[in-house]
Amino acid sequence: MHFENNLSFAQKMDREDPLAGYRNEFLFPEINGKRVIYFTGNSLGLQPRAAREALNVELEDWAKYGVEGHFHARNPWFAYHEFLTPQSARLVGAKEKEVVVMNGLTVNLHLLLVSFYRPTSSRFKILCEKKAFPSDQYALETQIRFHGFDPAIALVEVAPRVGEHTVRHEDVLALIDQHADQLALVMIGGVNYYTGQVFNMEEIAAAGHRAGALVGFDLAHAAGNIPLKLHDWNVDFACWCSYKYLNSGPGSVSGVFVHERHTSNEEIPRFGGWWGYDKESRFEMKPGFKPIHSAEGWQLSNAPVFSMAIHKASLDMFDKVGMDALRAKSEKLTAYLEFVIRTISVEVSNANFEIITPTNPQERGCQLSILAHGQGKMLFDKLMAEGVIVDWREPNVIRMAAVPMYNSFEDIYAFGECLKKSIS
Ligand SMILES: *Cc1c(COP(=O)(O)O)cnc(C)c1O
Repeated sequence: MHFENNLSFAQKMDREDPLAGYRNEFLFPEINGKRVIYFTGNSLGLQPRAAREALNVELEDWAKYGVEGHFHARNPWFAYHEFLTPQSARLVGAKEKEVVVMNGLTVNLHLLLVSFYRPTSSRFKILCEKKAFPSDQYALETQIRFHGFDPAIALVEVAPRVGEHTVRHEDVLALIDQHADQLALVMIGGVNYYTGQVFNMEEIAAAGHRAGALVGFDLAHAAGNIPLKLHDWNVDFACWCSYKYLNSGPGSVSGVFVHERHTSNEEIPRFGGWWGYDKESRFEMKPGFKPIHSAEGWQLSNAPVFSMAIHKASLDMFDKVGMDALRAKSEKLTAYLEFVIRTISVEVSNANFEIITPTNPQERGCQLSILAHGQGKMLFDKLMAEGVIVDWREPNVIRMAAVPMYNSFEDIYAFGECLKKSIS
């Protein structure tokens, strides 16, 4: 692809972008009365304009109906989670019975581990990526301890080779093979939160299954970022949050996938609650847990309607755009960001930026992680002062996501100009 690092080129790209109009569907923060250049949709997505109205509908119906809103609200709360199922299924490539929206992400990770990490004295290991997101590390560590095993032995981590920043796919497969006899579970982030590396989930799932293990993915950085085919890839389970690329607000609800080969299996241990109970007989309130034979069977509580109302408004937008169109724009946008950073690195003295995210579009989503050699936190502070919001990790890594739903090519050009000014 031919790119140029100038304003008129960036504006031309925006004019030719079929998704450019969606930018106006979002609210951008301002600093000193000026719209920020926002690149942290991988941390907290921007507020869709539709969120306020969606929330208002539920607030009004709560005021108007009280408890009767469970049945008489415009969107009856009783089965509110069902309103999010078709869009969620399409988003992650699942059948409707395989997905449900509930709880927060780490809560769901634990609930799924209760069901799908069932270690025995001979098969008890979990393979994950080194430097997984902290919450995932703690979840795996405490689950292992909960079952009476030692994380130092039971947790197998796949790391980048010395001198490299990302994990080689063949090393993941080799490590699975190496521990095959003792492996109970493969559980990794489908897209690494730090480097933005996308793992080949289909091949990892196949390798895990050949080894006799179950395979799950944390898709916090994948959902709404890259196209997913969880059912076809034969993944056993997965979960994701809705507040990063899915723009559903701070701490909002999480999505869950359970492959249909598990959804009717009542033998699988789980922590039950009334909302996971068979719908026909739920209100007979009989003793003895009878799970719903779908991902809904893992639900505990009745739906948190306010979070879900916003999530639904956002999912509707993803559904309308479609992940294929979003991905097509995303690849161009990220390639342009890469081009601008490389150009500056070559043309500007003192600029030495190393992109540690893979160059191959198949191995990345919209995030780039950049090692700013010779720069310190000052660079971040100056960017902030220019109205550019990126994520800074000590000692010198910038993580930024060019989000196709609302970022423009002009944003990227403007970022480059601010970057030039901020280099010390
Ligand atoms: C963002 C993120 C989380 C956050 O978990 P919460 O329970 O929503 O606070 C967990 N895991 C990964 C991989 C993440 O990227």
